[in-house]
Amino acid sequence: MNNFFEKFSLIHIPDTEIQGRAVLIRVDFNVPITEGHVDDTGDGRIQSSLKTIRYVMERGGTPILISHHGKKEDSLLPIAEYLKKFFDVVFLKNFEDFSQEKNNKNFHGKVILFENLRQFDGELENDSSYLNPLISESSCYINEAFPASHRAHGSLDDIVGRLPSYLGFQFLAELEGLALFNKDHLPQNTTLVLGGAKFGTKLNLLKSFLPHLEYVLMGGALANLFLRERGFEVGKSFIDEVDISDIKDSEKIILPIDIVDQEGDILRIDRVGRNDSILDIGPETGALFETIIKKSALVLWNGPMGKYEDNYYEGSHAVVKAMAETTARTLIGGGDSLAIIKKEGFSEEQFDVISMGGGAMLEYLISGTLPVLEAYKKLTQ
Ligand code: ADP
Ligand code: MG
Repeated sequence: MNNFFEKFSLIHIPDTEIQGRAVLIRVDFNVPITEGHVDDTGDGRIQSSLKTIRYVMERGGTPILISHHGKKEDSLLPIAEYLKKFFDVVFLKNFEDFSQEKNNKNFHGKVILFENLRQFDGELENDSSYLNPLISESSCYINEAFPASHRAHGSLDDIVGRLPSYLGFQFLAELEGLALFNKDHLPQNTTLVLGGAKFGTKLNLLKSFLPHLEYVLMGGALANLFLRERGFEVGKSFIDEVDISDIKDSEKIILPIDIVDQEGDILRIDRVGRNDSILDIGPETGALFETIIKKSALVLWNGPMGKYEDNYYEGSHAVVKAMAETTARTLIGGGDSLAIIKKEGFSEEQFDVISMGGGAMLEYLISGTLPVLEAYKKLTQ
């Protein structure tokens, strides 16, 4: 299945499509900005796209980078500043100006970055015609935005096939890595570690993977709902209300036995009071999770065990350390988990697969495909 998409690898781009030409690259630079700057622990998505950008430059092409960022009002300007660490960057706000600018300036050797695509009509409506001024100047299109590719948007879906279309190095690496976690071919003792605040797609993942898993280690605010549904007091803890009636009593789902409250105190789970908030898993839970992670053959982790931005990171630290030390094959996904790896001083090499995608990773694991991949498949029919 994954080999199928290798036919869209950049190694198949003819030199004539790159040399002296503009190459349109859809990246996902939707990374956290703190006080106007790219957050040092959150630049994974940018870093992972550099190989593709450099591949184009080394062959004499000019990368035109397009990306969305957060909400419509957000600007990619801080990202342009950050990119200057690596490239000679030209930041452009307007597509129509592009041809004009192109005549006046020599773009060779430079990287062009355009403003947040969500500022333009057509992007969310999956209509790529707003990108015509760029499409007409480019020789080919590369998708290096795996984390955004579960969305049928103009720059991701509709655009496929309007130019010769390829998939970036990171995109294909993601597909290869995630193939290890095909739910119908999991080894017997596979463990899923799930945290974060909101269920969203994670609930679908949990439900579809549960029959194939040995354990689910549940932390973060997700555990609060399970604890409450199993009869524990969770006080004022954050809860994302979803329907878990069919899985709440599953013996595979392991919940915290101790927690850290709003005062930083460690409480046994039956000692949580009406005015308490659960903000992290406790040390005994961390040790329990570590033991299970080390006995597993395959471990997939998504979502922090606690509110780590507010210094409730001990639980996530215990998990990431166990993931680094276990002999199991490990997959870590989602922006939060990646930020924790960096913050806690671990290196990416200590894990087998690191996915830059949150929602896209979950959707790919659940369904085995993404809207964007379907668009590429159609090209070969
Ligand atoms: P989002 O979809 O908003 O990114 P996630 O489901 O990915 O949310 O969860 C990440 C967030 O979960 C982090 O901001 C983290 O602080 C928060 N979180 C984790 N554990 C808790 C908890 N016990 N209480 C409140 N928030 C939590
Ligand atoms: Mg998240």
